Amino acid sequence: MSSHSKVEYRMKSRKKPGFATRAIHDGQQPDPLTGAVAVPIYPTSTYVQHGIGENKGYEYSRVTNPTRDRLEENLASLEGGVAARVFASGMAAINAIASMLKSGDHVVCGDDLYGGTPRLFNQVLTNFGLEFSYVDTSDANNVEGAIRKNTRMVHVETPTNPLMRISDLPAISQICRRKNVELVVDNTFMSPYFQQPLALGADMVVHSTTKFLNGHSDGIGGVVVCSRQDQAEKLAFLQKCAGAILSPFECWLILRGVKTLAARMEVHDRNGRIVADFLSKHKKVKNIFYPGLANHKQHELAKRQMSGFGAMITFETGSLKNANRMLKKLRVCSLGESLGGVETLISHPATMTHAALGVKGRKAIGITDGMVRISVGIENVEDILADLEAGLGVI
Ligand SMILES: *Cc1c(COP(=O)(O)O)cnc(C)c1O
Repeated sequence: MSSHSKVEYRMKSRKKPGFATRAIHDGQQPDPLTGAVAVPIYPTSTYVQHGIGENKGYEYSRVTNPTRDRLEENLASLEGGVAARVFASGMAAINAIASMLKSGDHVVCGDDLYGGTPRLFNQVLTNFGLEFSYVDTSDANNVEGAIRKNTRMVHVETPTNPLMRISDLPAISQICRRKNVELVVDNTFMSPYFQQPLALGADMVVHSTTKFLNGHSDGIGGVVVCSRQDQAEKLAFLQKCAGAILSPFECWLILRGVKTLAARMEVHDRNGRIVADFLSKHKKVKNIFYPGLANHKQHELAKRQMSGFGAMITFETGSLKNANRMLKKLRVCSLGESLGGVETLISHPATMTHAALGVKGRKAIGITDGMVRISVGIENVEDILADLEAGLGVI
């Protein structure tokens, strides 16, 4: 047997290329016209037709665009779905999912979601007859208890934002299956690299691609990944009807960003663990929430359903004054909304992402004024630690 055929044999015996390989190659095949290794941006609204009903599969870019097709193929592969549909933002993706429902339908949601999600649900979609209730989904029994006759969907984030509570996806998906309800998981915090909700039983996965998938804090976008073709068809119809599509340029940014997702997530995770360890031992830090710490209440569950712990850490500085003092002192870590970029970002949930909940709403779920949430970047970790040490030194 020649060495060449040995290589072939080994390649054939592998079921599916690995995650990093798919991130770089699926949907990212060289351009058939020129061989360009980067997927071209097709900034076109329309496509010339050769005759009535004769075209190359593209008619109008609200409906389909080649750059968008490539991104959708790539993201479907990374989440292990049958198809993906990309939207103008994470919120547009969540809104598209809600648009699959009808007036009178009910949704059970986590009580500790990204602040924009309950804002859309409570302040916009209730006007159209949709009903929402909020429970702590870290106990699957709460989900079961909240399901009514008219419940059509369960919307879960795990880990939650900012309290890092974990929801047991296999347990919740079993309940949903039994009750004939669709399970939607917002997988933004973990990315498909560390958590694969479809494999754990979810029906659809949603992301703000703005965060880890794009990874460079330079574009806004969202995606829904489907486990069934009928969902993909409905969502394509919604792209066409409602038009909240992602532009070819933004699609290209994500195609570029996602090529390094595996490499970035490895560093985010390594730095995240080191920063969490440092903060957990620091005398100025009153409390810390990170699923990678052995004393996190759901550490074992996190280990079971995630292959890493990620870069999101929330910690308690004691007061709004302390938080502000620390944040003003930081030089490497930047104060800002958002997360998942290569740069370390710190946010203040009470006044930023969770301001819309109001004092009562925040108190009910345990978000305090002294809490800060850090999205650990991929800078040299010593520099992040030194910066945090300096920041904590002034409180
Ligand atoms: C940012 C975020 C969203 C909203 O996404 P946009 O791209 O900002 O519209 C939804 N869910 C989670 C978990 C997020 O972090």
